[in-house]
Parts: sequence; structure tokens; C-alpha cells
Amino acid sequence: MPLIRKLPDNLINRIAAGEVVERPSSALKELIENSIDAGASQIEVNLKEGGLDLIEIIDDGHGMTRDEISMALERHATSKLPDEDLTRISTLGFRGEALPSIASVGLLTIESRTKDASTGWKKLVDHGVLKKDGPTGVPIGTRVRLENLFYKIPARRKFLRTARSEYVACLDVIRRLAMANCQIGFSMSNNGKRVLNFQARQQLIDRIAAFLGRDLKENSVSINLSRFSGEGPVTVRGIAGLPTYNRGVADHQYMFVNGRPVKDKLLTGAVRGAYSNMLARNRHAVLALFIELPASEVDVNVHPGKTEVRFQDPTSVRSFLVSSLRKALEGGDKRSAQITDSEPMAAWRSSNELDDTHREAINLFNNKEIDNKSNNIFYNAGANFAGVESDHRWSDFSPQGRGIDGSNAVTSSDYPLGIARGQVANTYIVAEASDGLVIVDQHAAHERLVLERLRSAGATEAVARSQALLSPEVVELDQIDCDNLDEASADLERFGLLLERFGPNAVLVRALPHVLAKADPLKLLTDLADDIRSHGKLLLLEERIEHVLATMACHGSVRAGRVLKVEEMNSLLREMERTPRSGQCNHGRPTWIKLGMGDVEKLFGRH
Ligand code: ADP
Ligand code: MG
Repeated sequence: MPLIRKLPDNLINRIAAGEVVERPSSALKELIENSIDAGASQIEVNLKEGGLDLIEIIDDGHGMTRDEISMALERHATSKLPDEDLTRISTLGFRGEALPSIASVGLLTIESRTKDASTGWKKLVDHGVLKKDGPTGVPIGTRVRLENLFYKIPARRKFLRTARSEYVACLDVIRRLAMANCQIGFSMSNNGKRVLNFQARQQLIDRIAAFLGRDLKENSVSINLSRFSGEGPVTVRGIAGLPTYNRGVADHQYMFVNGRPVKDKLLTGAVRGAYSNMLARNRHAVLALFIELPASEVDVNVHPGKTEVRFQDPTSVRSFLVSSLRKALEGGDKRSAQITDSEPMAAWRSSNELDDTHREAINLFNNKEIDNKSNNIFYNAGANFAGVESDHRWSDFSPQGRGIDGSNAVTSSDYPLGIARGQVANTYIVAEASDGLVIVDQHAAHERLVLERLRSAGATEAVARSQALLSPEVVELDQIDCDNLDEASADLERFGLLLERFGPNAVLVRALPHVLAKADPLKLLTDLADDIRSHGKLLLLEERIEHVLATMACHGSVRAGRVLKVEEMNSLLREMERTPRSGQCNHGRPTWIKLGMGDVEKLFGRH
């Protein structure tokens, strides 16, 4: 058997670094946490190449003496567990592992001075080897520089991503820590360019809104609820976006446990539960929630990056979070935060469960009806809905449906979705088919039709036709979103959306796709940026276009709440019969439901 031997410290540190310092952002996280633990009121971060070349952190915390710096570089040396009790951790750090690990994988310079010292002390360690050790003139506080991460460890360096994606990860780290520490001022630069700046002692809502959107203020409720558990109070604080203020990705949910940014399935599940019947399945709430509970009821020592936690009583944490969120949302904007729990009537058949015979009938109908002229209808319909003037009128293509006034009767047996009889709540079309009563969700249906149309047209002329804006509109967005849209601009242009970069945090919208002439550029761009964020650049072009189309379709569709003329309703029904996959909207919900005539009769006891 080979000899068992104890590994040298250098190697042990490097092994630990494998867990602690995966990439620049994980080193940055440890270093900012140290500054927060040191009681800093101002933290400055300077990066070069997203932290690959340099991470520098300057704080005005309590600093370290010469001996303390030496100790800090020792493995498992910490000032943060005075009573050696791992169940009562009140600081972000506690393992005493970060600095020695970081020192073993790059060039680390620590300069620090305490308030009692007349001068500071500096130590320079290169991949675990002490290179410089001497006095230095620095203000009270600590300055840490990490250069050339993994420079001498090519096996690790080759796993690093581009400077840009490392930068994005660093930005995410500082965002989360800045949100959780409003009392501290934060600034960050990358390659000499200031990318973030926050004053100390900021209001929570102001700091969160700076990250999550300026309009969050008017579209959110604040939460501050406590209850007592066995060991002490459990509190949920924070800002929760109204259900109507939703986004296409869950990236805009920030969760903290005892001041620690966490990514926790239990908590995200609870949020989903709280919003469950207020949001479409593919939409996500925007929020920042801070959960405080007695340190003894949560184990923070379960993950190398400390981004996961384990609750002693997960069920009660979950239910408290769900009930707090619901209570806050109910007290907020009643109009948008209403909870509808209605059980759909069992006898209604939805278009999602169309049986095969019905489908066949529709197919038959399709084959019979499709001709060149009717193929044009949809586009014109789209243009009409989007409020664009069109040469054609709905009535040119629609059968003369009998309206609410009862005139112009056509036999409904000709059409699977029947003849429009009227509109309810300016949202639903009620139609009479030969075999039952049909209700159509006009927005969901039209959105689907727009998508199918865009899809079948591909990048052809009709879609690519763009409508130049009289005066280009400036849309302010997150820098990352602007960069992403910038990169995708060639693709977007194929669909008639003409963008131009306008400074670091804005894009200029020069033209909109013709079918979307009336869309709100800010909303459209925000959703497109979210799409790119959630699906990234890895998405095949095809798929990406598909997503762009779906998002565009949503913006180009007739909204619920728009009064439709009878001809418009009938035209929509006919389009639905002609269009593949029109039975479900782009979010998987049915676009229409049908109650069979026999069932109507049963409901009235005629059977
Ligand atoms: P931990 O944070 O788990 O204690 P670290 O290796 O990150 O372990 O840091 C070791 C020790 O160095 C800390 O306990 C703290 O006493 C000291 N230290 C690190 N960074 C700073 C800083 N920015 N200001 C003051 N002290 C610091
Ligand atoms: Mg630490």
C-alpha cells in the first residue's frame, strides 16, 4: 500500500480553493463579504477584464494589524467564531478559509491599517509564497488586490469563461450584496469604467428599484411581517412586485436569509406558490425578500459558496413566506392582485383537449377553404388589430355573421367555431356552433394567430417590413440587456426591429416591425432582453427567432378589453379555424372552450 502522508499546506490551500474560488466572481464574493464583516461603510471594487486580470477591493472597515494579516493568511484562522459555536453565526464569513485559498491561486496583495496604528502593513503572496512583507502608507481600512487568477494553474485557468461573462457574474455578486446592505455605499468599475455607484444609507426600495427597474416603486408592495418561533422572531421584509408587473425570466427574484444572498429551491418554490393563481405559468414575479430568523434555526454551513442554507423547519418557513406574500399582495393593488380560484365547470371542453374527430372536421374545413386570398386575411387582420390602417376591411373576408341584433343569419354548421353572437366583458367572444356554445379568449387567440403568421412568413417581406418611428425612441435598460440586444440586433432587424446603441444604458428604437407599429417599445425591448437572458447565446438561431416571434406576437395582439365589431369577431373565428395550433395560446392555455348543446340542455334539466 502506498504511504499515507500529510499534504503540504500549499497543496491543502489549493484544494480548498477549488471549492471557494471557482472563478473571479466567487473570489470577489468572499472579499466583499470580508469587508462587510469588517464593518465597512464604503466598499469600492475595481475589476480588469471582468476580474480575470485584477480584482481590487478597498474598504474603510476596522482593518488588520501586521500580525492579524499573517494570521488571516493561515488556514482556518478567523476572528469570527469567538465562542466556537457553528450554530450561532452572525457574520458572512466563519470558516477562515477564503484568504489562504485565494492566496494560493494568484498574486494576492493585502494592505491594511487599523485606527490605532500610525501606518499600515502590506503583504504580497504569489501562489501561496510570501514575496513582500513591510510597512506601507494607507488609510484606515483594507485594500486587497488579486491579480492573475490561476496564472500558474493552467488546468484551472482554461475553465474560466470570457472576460464578459466573468464580468456579468461579478456584477451579480455585487448586486446581491449591495441589496442586502443598504447602509453601505458601493461602487464598481471594470477596465476603468464606472459601472455602479450607490450612496451609503440608501432606502431599501431605492436601492432595489435601481436594480429591478425604476417603475418597481409604483408596481410593488412592501412587506414587513414577523411571527414568533420557538427561538425568537422570524421576519419577512422586502419588496414584492405586483402580479401584473411580471417578467419572462425568474432572474429578477432576489432572496436573502439573515443578510446572506441565497439561491434556494424552497424559497423560490414558496414564491411561485404565493403567486400561483395570479401569474401565467411562464411569467415570473419580480421581488427582493429578506428573511431573518434565529441563527440556530438555519444551517448556513451546507455549501462551499454559502449560497444555500438548510432550515430546521422548512415547512413552517415556506408557509410563513407564502402567507406573508399573499397578505401583502392582497393589501396592495386590488385590481391587479386578485386571486381567482374558480373551478372551471366540468362540462366545458377546452380547445386543448380537442378530440380527433373534431380536429378532422377542422382539417377538412381547412383544405376546403384555403386559397390565396384567405391567406392574406391574417396579415391584414394583424395589421388591423395593431391599429394600422389597412386597405382591406374585415368584412371583405368575413361571412356575414349575425350580430347581437339578430340580423344576417348564417347557418352555424358551416363553421366549427360557429358564428359570433357577441362579446362579453370586451374580452370574450361568444359564438354559436351547430353543436354547442363557444367562448373565445380574444387576446389569447389573436396572439396565437399573430405568432403562426409571423412563423409561416419567416423572414419574408411582409414581416420584415418595418415602420420607421417619426422620432426614434430612447429606451433605457440595464447595460447587460443593452449589450445583449446590441448583439442580437442583426437578427432583430430581419424582423423589422431597428435598434441602435445609444450610450452604455440605452438603445435607440428607429423602427418597429410593421405588425407591431403600436407596441410599447420599452415593454417590447424588456421582454426581448429577458428572452435573451434566459436562453442565452447558446440558443440556436431558429429557436431564438421563435422566441423573438412569440414575444413580438404578444405585443402585436389585440388586447383583452378592446371592443370588437361583429365582423371582426367572425374574421377572428375564421382565422382560428384556418390556422394550425390555434387551439392554444403561446403560453399553453386554451384559446377557446366549448359547451356541447347536449350539455346545455342537461344544465337546464331538459334531458
Ligand atoms: P473568514 O471570513 O471566514 O473569517 P477569511 O479567510 O475570509 O475567513 O478571513 C480571515 C480573517 O481575516 C477574518 O476572520 C478577518 O479577521 C480578517 N479579514 C479578512 N478580510 C478583512 C478585511 N477586509 N478587513 C478586516 N479584516 C479582514
Ligand atoms: Mg471571509
